[in-house]
Amino acid sequence: MQIELYCDCCACRFAAPPQASSREITDRMFKEGPWYALGDGETFEDMIFTTLTQQGHIACPDCGEPVAVSEESLGQLAMSMLSQM
Ligand SMILES: [Zn+2]
Repeated sequence: MQIELYCDCCACRFAAPPQASSREITDRMFKEGPWYALGDGETFEDMIFTTLTQQGHIACPDCGEPVAVSEESLGQLAMSMLSQM
């Protein structure tokens, strides 16, 4: 199970497991690129949720267009967030 960020404009993409730690994510982005501007969070899932709630979208590091978050994982993301509230 992975969350995938994908840009329709330039086919830029990044995928990682939802529970990957933020340290792991920044390490991977540093090594592999692309570098997405994500909000604070302990895990990849938290970082995406923070970014979406604060900014409404995640910007592509290459072209600045909002990237798509893979739908299946977003559904599960939203559901797990709701169940924690
Ligand atoms: Zn792009």
